[in-house]
Amino acid sequence: MKYFTDYHTHTEFSCDSTAPLDKMCERAIALGMQELALTDHADFLSFKTFEEEIDLATRQQAIIAAQEKYGNRCKILNGIEIGQPQANPAEYERMLQLYPFDFIIGSIHNLPNDVEINHLDYSQVNDMELYTQFMEEEIKLVQNYDFDVLGHITMPQRYLYRRVRRSVDLTKFEEQYQELFRLLIAREKGIEVNTSGIRQGIDETMPNALVLKWYRECGGKIITVGSDAHTPQDLGAAIPETYQMLRELGFTHVMSYEKREYQAHKLD
Ligand SMILES: [Zn+2]
Ligand SMILES: [Zn+2]
Repeated sequence: MKYFTDYHTHTEFSCDSTAPLDKMCERAIALGMQELALTDHADFLSFKTFEEEIDLATRQQAIIAAQEKYGNRCKILNGIEIGQPQANPAEYERMLQLYPFDFIIGSIHNLPNDVEINHLDYSQVNDMELYTQFMEEEIKLVQNYDFDVLGHITMPQRYLYRRVRRSVDLTKFEEQYQELFRLLIAREKGIEVNTSGIRQGIDETMPNALVLKWYRECGGKIITVGSDAHTPQDLGAAIPETYQMLRELGFTHVMSYEKREYQAHKLD
């Protein structure tokens, strides 16, 4: 494979990872990656500053040091995974003013009122209601906020499966996805294919081949692929197979980013 990278990765700067940043870089080099996008969590909550969620000042220094140390072997990119900027738009704006990024994944982890999708009581959840609310938040994110690709756009499937072994019939949301894709394409934004579902039980990427087919039919071309690794061992997981799936679906390129500008790499 000519081009190999991971565009969704977490390090110790994320609240849910203890992976040393250096170890992630070293693993990327060992796997033969040309690039590694570090995309730690910056989740927005109505009652918190972003500094209470992530120490971006220290992280920025660590990334610059890693770029100097590893840059001749693997390009290290300063990415971020933002969560629901709509929970605190002023904080998101302030973060963007203070910190430059190469690449921004826009994700929804929480519903309105800081309700974490991860922490719902799934024995009480109405699957269709949850999914409808999630899609509404995705649409708000795409309409109003700055980012490069939308992260794990079928994320409730992950928790429905993990907690109660259920899943939503995505064909019921085809129209909502088409709207989402129209909005994304009009803004020249893309989606990521998140491979973590393959190792976390749902046995498919987020989104899966069906939703990716809708994206392609809408004219979507901008795609990044990431493992959502929180440990060095998971880095790059299921990415080669996902490139193959994308080829089979008729996609020809995946994107890389630097200073928020994308560049296409042929899938061959
Ligand atoms: Zn996420
Ligand atoms: Zn993530």
